Amino acid sequence: MTAVRTTCPYCGVGCGIVATRPQAGGSSVVITGDAEHPANAGRLCSKGAALAETLGLDGRLLHPEIRGQRAAWDDALDAVASGFAETIAAHGPDSVAFYVSGQLLTEDYYVANKLMKGFIGSANIDTNSRLCMASAVAGHKRAFGEDVVPQAYADLDAAELFVIVGANMAWCHPILFQRVRRAKEERPHVRVVVIDPRRTATADVADVFLPIRPGTDVVLFNGLLSYLRREDALDWEFIDAHVEGATAALRAAKASSPSVPAVAAACGVPERDVAEFYRLFVRTRQVVTLFSQGVNQSSSGTDKVNAILNVHLASGRIGRPGAGPFSITGQPNAMGGREVGALANQLAAHMEFSPDHVERVARFWQAPNVATRPGLKAVELFDAVHAGRIKAVWIMATNPVVSMPDADRVAEALARCPLVVVSDCIRHTDTTRYAHVLLPAAAWGEKSGTVTNSERRISRQRPFLEPAGESRADWRIICDVARRMGFGRAFAHRLPADIFREHARLSAFENDGSRAFDIGALAELSDDEYDALEPVQWPLPAANADARRAPDAARPKRLFADGRFFTPNGKARLVALEPRAPRSLPTDAAPIVLNTGRTRDQWHTMTRTGRAPRLTGHRAEPFVDVHPDDAARFALDDGGLAVLENERGRMLARVRVTADVRKGEVFAPMHWNAQFATHGRVNALIAPEFDPISGQPELKHGAVRLRRHAPARHGFVLSREPLELPGCEYVVRARLRGCWRIEFADDMDARSWPEWARAVLGADGEWIELSDPGRRRYRAAVLEHRRLKACLFASAEPIGVGREWLAAQFREPEIGDAVRPSLLAGGPAQHDGAVAGIVCACFSVARNVLVDVIRAQSLTTAAEIGRILGAGTSCGSCVPELNALIAAERRA
Ligand code: SF4
Repeated sequence: MTAVRTTCPYCGVGCGIVATRPQAGGSSVVITGDAEHPANAGRLCSKGAALAETLGLDGRLLHPEIRGQRAAWDDALDAVASGFAETIAAHGPDSVAFYVSGQLLTEDYYVANKLMKGFIGSANIDTNSRLCMASAVAGHKRAFGEDVVPQAYADLDAAELFVIVGANMAWCHPILFQRVRRAKEERPHVRVVVIDPRRTATADVADVFLPIRPGTDVVLFNGLLSYLRREDALDWEFIDAHVEGATAALRAAKASSPSVPAVAAACGVPERDVAEFYRLFVRTRQVVTLFSQGVNQSSSGTDKVNAILNVHLASGRIGRPGAGPFSITGQPNAMGGREVGALANQLAAHMEFSPDHVERVARFWQAPNVATRPGLKAVELFDAVHAGRIKAVWIMATNPVVSMPDADRVAEALARCPLVVVSDCIRHTDTTRYAHVLLPAAAWGEKSGTVTNSERRISRQRPFLEPAGESRADWRIICDVARRMGFGRAFAHRLPADIFREHARLSAFENDGSRAFDIGALAELSDDEYDALEPVQWPLPAANADARRAPDAARPKRLFADGRFFTPNGKARLVALEPRAPRSLPTDAAPIVLNTGRTRDQWHTMTRTGRAPRLTGHRAEPFVDVHPDDAARFALDDGGLAVLENERGRMLARVRVTADVRKGEVFAPMHWNAQFATHGRVNALIAPEFDPISGQPELKHGAVRLRRHAPARHGFVLSREPLELPGCEYVVRARLRGCWRIEFADDMDARSWPEWARAVLGADGEWIELSDPGRRRYRAAVLEHRRLKACLFASAEPIGVGREWLAAQFREPEIGDAVRPSLLAGGPAQHDGAVAGIVCACFSVARNVLVDVIRAQSLTTAAEIGRILGAGTSCGSCVPELNALIAAERRA
């Protein structure tokens, strides 16, 4: 067996992974957590643990294509290089753009940024990280003078109060959330405050839960700043020595948030809970405030970030163990992108477009043509494509037709663009369909490089598989295009290690301590040392060369411990903040606020996690969470379908009636793409509003109409093949172990259902059928060689039959006579509403099984469930749901 230590490609926690595969000829890979990696100490969440299921070649893009035809690499690279060169010659450097991704490795990112900003001479390179943390970047720069996350995960073990703002850590950063949960279990005096308009699984550990009105974060934190002053809890010694702007910030805070009752009224939460949050903050020195997309994805995201930074700076809760603001990033290498400068408004290595920085980078790169001003940020960039100002765009490792706001307009923009190049490892995505040139990129498991996680820790991503088909590493593709454009000398890199060393040298170049991002100690790594590099946190200036051997031992002192920040005068800045409402406010035509976000077991636009059967059972369909009062108002049934729509788009989603969302607000996930759902792209409904400072889109706040969708037929198919269901309006696919699950709905007349079933499933095989057109019920199971080939259930109502038992029959070597009668019942003993499916993805434990055991054995804790079924004992992501099931049974 060969074991390779690498890094998870999903969220910004950046967990270490050990990938083990048989040495000779074997292909099966075993994925486990890396016990030596400081980010996770061997633990993995459900997504990381299922990575082996995503490694198959099914759906991979295996060779280059030009206009849909297979092409040789040389021809494809020539087409890209000449297409870009000719466009630049005719229309100037700002007529082209790159749209890149936090999925790229730092080495890929570095050469992409260098090519665009240093040699093409435009700054039109932006990254999908713009969608997840640009506001944190802007907030850090305003307050600290540089984009610096001062905290480390070890601070979670020292914190005594956790304030979690706009972050469903239990689902989106599960391994960090387990650390918070453990801190609370092991140190009972630890308190947790969760601030989120929606009650998420993270609130499971909350001592105080504040479901604030969307967009009122600045009111709440301004209120805390005022409260600190009233309670004489400001750290004047620290402020006087190390902070400026206090007078204006305190005045603005008082104006917007003069008292606890005023804050509570504005935020729509109980006064006593606001008061308790403020009291906890005042009496605890070790406070870590964790924040994520709920703060960042807003038209006032930068202000929200600064509102959080303000209270930490003003109270001196920064620069010491267990105290500070902690931006947790969404993507595996969003931080790496920030380091190389692959945001349109940064240059490189945390340098800006100031004349001295431009001149310095030009000398370092020996580049004749360095961009001198910022380029277009994501929303503006696709606007420019739509308007025809950008005529050639290269999209790398991302799927903007699903993930961007106003997503249908992004599709329209790409359809109009004269040259669209897409590098991806997946052949069919919503974005690849617009590509004139498709470049097959190596996938996770095949690539070599580095990533940086939320705590500034650089880890190696190491390959353990050969590149599939003709796929190539992104850095190599970019360098090959650069050489063809005439920039060969600057892009003569042989290996990722070459690029990393150059990146490290640039970080240290003429850096006299004025820039925090300095990894000069890694600039002289040999190839072997680079290959063996242990996870290491920056800054690591050259003086700290021992870092190569014992990185953690050689780590420099804590950032900001000396009260020195990266502004010209070394002082941090408090920012005077006036709260602003979200831009897309509800109207008569669109009266409901739409919040979007992630689910526990899916990642981004599902191009990878959608391939892992064990990840599709938790939430099998696009859904919308609706408050019970709104469900009554719009006549929506739990488990039925709803239409969400506005002037931009339309989505069909399964309704979940829940008081976890506020009245007048709904939540829908951002994952489903056109390959898995006909009407599941929620970002088509989101207006392209963005923060004026950070450019980050307001993905968390749209306005929609909501109405009942009542088709004549609801149904599902389970089949060994990924069948097409022609004519169905609503189709959602999910890959299960041994079969596909396809949910559907349309208006077909019941008399046609049997004929349609044969057309879809194929007439061959042994049919077991129940047809009752009068009551509009139809069920069929088809066997071939005594194995289940497919089954199809249709009804006038949503079908409450659980899919798990039926799906399990596809894994049986034969369907015995005793089982046959149960096929059309969906199983021998069904639970009402068992559609909800898998709760524990690690051990594939379904909801109905859990309910059975909780009832039969009168269980009262998640730990008891774990001892019997294993559920909740691996990654722990489902523990909040286990607790919710126990609570529901107790109430029942
Ligand atoms: Fe991967 Fe999960 Fe760790 Fe995030 S928490 S890095 S998704 S294993």
